[in-house]
Amino acid sequence: MKVVKFGGTSLASAAQIKKAVEIIQADDQRQAIVLSAPGKRDNQDIKITDLLINTHKQKTAGEDYLQTFAKIRARFSELSELLEVDVNIETELDVIQKKIEAGTTLDFVESRGEYLNSLIISKYLGAEFIDAADVVRLTADGRVDPESYELINKRLGSATGRFVVPGFYGTGPDGEIKTFSRGGSDISGAIVGRGVNADVYENWTDVSGILQADPRIVPEAQPVPEITYAEVRELASCGASVFHEEAIAPVRDAKIPINIKNTNSPADGGTMIQASRSADKMPVVGVSGKKPYRVLKAEKFMLNRYPELPGQVKEALAQQKLAVEFDMKGFDSFALMVDSSSDFDENAICQYLLEKTEIDACSFGMTVALVGIVGVGLQNQTGLLGRMLNALDQAGIEIRSISYGGSQLTALLAINLDDYEKSLKILVGQLQK
Ligand code: ASP
Repeated sequence: MKVVKFGGTSLASAAQIKKAVEIIQADDQRQAIVLSAPGKRDNQDIKITDLLINTHKQKTAGEDYLQTFAKIRARFSELSELLEVDVNIETELDVIQKKIEAGTTLDFVESRGEYLNSLIISKYLGAEFIDAADVVRLTADGRVDPESYELINKRLGSATGRFVVPGFYGTGPDGEIKTFSRGGSDISGAIVGRGVNADVYENWTDVSGILQADPRIVPEAQPVPEITYAEVRELASCGASVFHEEAIAPVRDAKIPINIKNTNSPADGGTMIQASRSADKMPVVGVSGKKPYRVLKAEKFMLNRYPELPGQVKEALAQQKLAVEFDMKGFDSFALMVDSSSDFDENAICQYLLEKTEIDACSFGMTVALVGIVGVGLQNQTGLLGRMLNALDQAGIEIRSISYGGSQLTALLAINLDDYEKSLKILVGQLQK
């Protein structure tokens, strides 16, 4: 059995839904279907999930939410009309509106896009609708409860026909509807895949796979045919929005490959995410970055006698609501990359650290961007990393720090903020040589 998950843009309109259905029907193995809520039809459009969140916000603030709800109503009514399905969509919408009026939870409201879309599409497909509330369990902090795998297996492991499960939500420990974090239908697809022990988890989206870099910065970035679970994790940690990070674990443990495919171009191979790959053809899968960070330098004479000190400084920074992405240890000092996407008073922070921890001195250096070069081939292709760094050097881009070795999958560079986009372009250029 194959699990197929379609994202919001693949289901944004009746025309898109028809494409998805054609893909499903082209393969009898595409039996387990997991769906997102309708996404944006164009750049001006608003995702159904965002509209739902807005209605809840407006209702909670005592504002008029009916206009926003009317937009949701209009989109679902139009979809069910265009697809000519026999679903009493107005009654379903009335029930939801009543619950919003009565002050139901945000999780319930924001989950209804997936619920309604799956109801409509299951009818259109002639497939069984399985409410995620019955088979997907979440922990109190919104993560996957492994009990879900057994529930799904019992209910669907030996199913013979097609079935549709809404993505993004399930039931929490209190028995109420609970959602994953945004983009969480990817996680639902992975859970269903693990539960039915699928041969493959096909994740259908609007690009032909994972690209070497963010195409908004590097339009020449090419899709990557094969990538490992570990590389996807590293790319995501370096800032790439490739695939929901939490969606890897359920399928990785069961060694189920994930195939990222394009609904608008189904013949493209897309990207296969799997346990291992040969690094010969593509030693590095991609480059990605995060910004901006300020480099905090903390000094301590005989630092090796105070192994707990970097942790204490990080904790103190967390108390000041500052996140540390990455640290580098020297002999009598260490540097921390502090997220500086919002402003802070560096003197006040240093003062605070000097009071709360045992550091001798504290200072903030320049603002940098972090760029990760990710690939299993970095460790066995002699000279590869050197060539890439050399290309940056040739272009006058100064590397402020470099870390490589933690996982041997990623080389993490700190560069001047202004060089960020240029460095991604140069690095992708090197990958394509
Ligand atoms: N509809 C949800 C969101 O927009 C979940 C998803 O599409 O994966 O975040």
